[in-house]
Amino acid sequence: MNLFSRNKPKIHIQTTKKDGFSGWLKCTHCNELIHTNELVQNQNCCPKCDYHYRLSTEERIKSLSDANSFEPLFNHLHPLDPLQFTDTEPYPDRLANAQEKSGANEAVVVGSCLLNRQGIALGVMDFNFMGGSMGSVVGEKLTRLIEYAIQFFLPLVIVSTSGGARMQESIFSLMQIAKTSAALAKLHEAKLPYLSILTNPTTGGVTASFASLGDVIIAEPNALICFAGPRVIEQTIGHQLPPGAQKSEFLLEHGMIDCIVRRPELKQKVIDILEILKGNHE
Ligand SMILES: [Zn+2]
Repeated sequence: MNLFSRNKPKIHIQTTKKDGFSGWLKCTHCNELIHTNELVQNQNCCPKCDYHYRLSTEERIKSLSDANSFEPLFNHLHPLDPLQFTDTEPYPDRLANAQEKSGANEAVVVGSCLLNRQGIALGVMDFNFMGGSMGSVVGEKLTRLIEYAIQFFLPLVIVSTSGGARMQESIFSLMQIAKTSAALAKLHEAKLPYLSILTNPTTGGVTASFASLGDVIIAEPNALICFAGPRVIEQTIGHQLPPGAQKSEFLLEHGMIDCIVRRPELKQKVIDILEILKGNHE
């Protein structure tokens, strides 16, 4: 037998079948094995370590409304490219990719729905769409939602997640900070409650505007909530941030938010708070 033969028997490795997914996943936070069914039942929170994974806008709306009661609003608004902005690729191409990837036309879904048989105006941001960045359509949809809430005397709930202002829209994006804040001031004058729910991550221009203007500000556990991210700050000041800085628990301790609520308890908490604030405008 020729020792150097190229025709040695090879070890046959059985390749995984395409449909061989058994439903088991490894939690990237605690490394424990978890089953997808368990994860879904637990609203995408790890049953072992309680790490809160991202929820889609659809799942989020479902988790905060009565069954089949959500009616989307202002879906006809589409983003444009007023600056003809190109970075590594043209902005319209990025938008088309994001629309294809997420199946949504922008980074926020707004509408009206029932929650515990009471009407509310609900806005949910979508991190899967260009990092939940706030372009002019995101600002416009939220502003119209706030005006809708004023018109129909509805409490407002916005679930935020965002990488901040959308740089491809430059000043048009930054203007949304002022616009949404001005609309919220009118909601406040109308004595209608606004609950802001902050999820991981909520940053930049969104933190600097409507996300921080809630009458009650709720955060999910262990969420990054900041203006500039930790890396940018550390590079700027040349110091390391204290452990847990810019996380929900740190912000609660420093008075930036009102409470931290685990996702499985969030719906009931929102119902309870709205019940307490109900009738304020009368
Ligand atoms: Zn885990």
